[in-house]
Amino acid sequence: MTTFFPGPSRVYPQIATFMQEAFDKGILSISHRSETFNAMSEKTVGLLKNKLNIPDNYTIYYTSSATESWEIIAQSLTKNQSVHFFSGAFGEKWFDYAQKLRPNAIGNTFEINADHNIEEWNIAATAEIISITQNETSNGTQIRPQLIQQLREQHPEKLIAVDVTSSLAGISLPFEAADVWYGSVQKCFGMPAGLGLLICSPRAVARAKEIADRKHYNSLLILDDNIQKWQTSCTPNVLAIYLLMRVLETIPSIEETDKMIKARAKAYYEAVKESKTLMTLVENIAVRSDTIIAIKGSKEQVLEWKASAKNENILLGAGYGKWKETSFRIANFPALQQDEVQAMLVWLAKQ
Ligand SMILES: *Cc1c(COP(=O)(O)O)cnc(C)c1O
Repeated sequence: MTTFFPGPSRVYPQIATFMQEAFDKGILSISHRSETFNAMSEKTVGLLKNKLNIPDNYTIYYTSSATESWEIIAQSLTKNQSVHFFSGAFGEKWFDYAQKLRPNAIGNTFEINADHNIEEWNIAATAEIISITQNETSNGTQIRPQLIQQLREQHPEKLIAVDVTSSLAGISLPFEAADVWYGSVQKCFGMPAGLGLLICSPRAVARAKEIADRKHYNSLLILDDNIQKWQTSCTPNVLAIYLLMRVLETIPSIEETDKMIKARAKAYYEAVKESKTLMTLVENIAVRSDTIIAIKGSKEQVLEWKASAKNENILLGAGYGKWKETSFRIANFPALQQDEVQAMLVWLAKQ
C-alpha cells in the first residue's frame, strides 16, 4: 500500500537502513552534550544549508514540530502584535496560538480561490511581524514564493515569518526574502515525525535579542545559546537528527527536486482535468499548490474514490478541516517513488 497522506507521509525507503545504522553505531544512546552529537548536528545544519540553498548567515534551530515554532515566534519575536493572512486551517491555527500569547494579534482571511494581491493587504503600522502560510496543506493552495519577495519590498521594516511545513525540501524557496521559516520533517523530508526546523535571518535573531525573552525552555535566545555549540536546550530527537543527516546526504539539490515536484504536479493536475468525475478543490490555477493536490466531490463520491484507490494499493490522503469529508488530498512529496506516482496517475485518469 502506498500512502499519499500529506503528513505523516511516505518515508524514503532508505529510512529502514538508516535506522538500523543508527542503532548499530550506538547513536541512540549518545549524549546530546558529546562531541559526537555536536559533529553530527553541525554536519546536518551544513547539509541543510547546502542542499536547500539557505543563506550562510541564517541560523537553523532544532524544534520538536512546526506547532512549537508558532509559540516560539509569539513568545520570542513578537512584543505586542503579529498580523496573519490565511485561507485555511493551518494558517488559522497559527493565528489562534499567536492570539493566546499576544491578544493584539490580527487575523485576515481570504477565500481559497482569491488571488494573492499582496499590495492590497492591510498591514497595521503597529504590527511587528507578518505571518503567512506559504503552502496551506489543508486546502492545497500556495502563496507563490516570488510574492514573498514582493511582500519584503513593500514592508522592508517588518519581520516576515513563513510556515513552509509542507513545502520545505519540496520546492525552491527565497530564504533571503523573509526572516523566519519553519517546518517539520514528516512532510517533504520523507521522514517519520518528531523533529522540526526553525530557520532565522540575522534580523530575526537581532529582534529576539532586543525583546530578550528568556522565560521558556524554548525561548529563541536559549535555543540560540545552545546552537552556538550545535546543541539544543533539552534532549533532542537524536535519531531524527541522524536520519535527517543521512537523508540530506542522499537527496539531490533543491533545484533538481523543485523541477521534479513541479513536473509531477503538472501531470497530476492534467490527469484530474482529463478525468470524467474528479475536480480540483482549488479552481484558481495561480494559487494551486505544487506539493498538495486537493480534489473535491460529494461525501459519497469521496468514499467511493477512497475504496477504488485502495483496491489498487493506493491510500488517498483524507480531507482536512471543513473539507474533511468532501475532498481528498494527494501528497506530492519527493519520497514518493516514480512508479508510485505513475500508479496514481493511471488511477486518476480512470476516474
Ligand atoms: C503539518 C503542518 C503543521 C503542523 O506540523 P507539526 O509538525 O505537526 O506541528 C503546520 N503547518 C502546516 C502548513 C502543516 O502542513
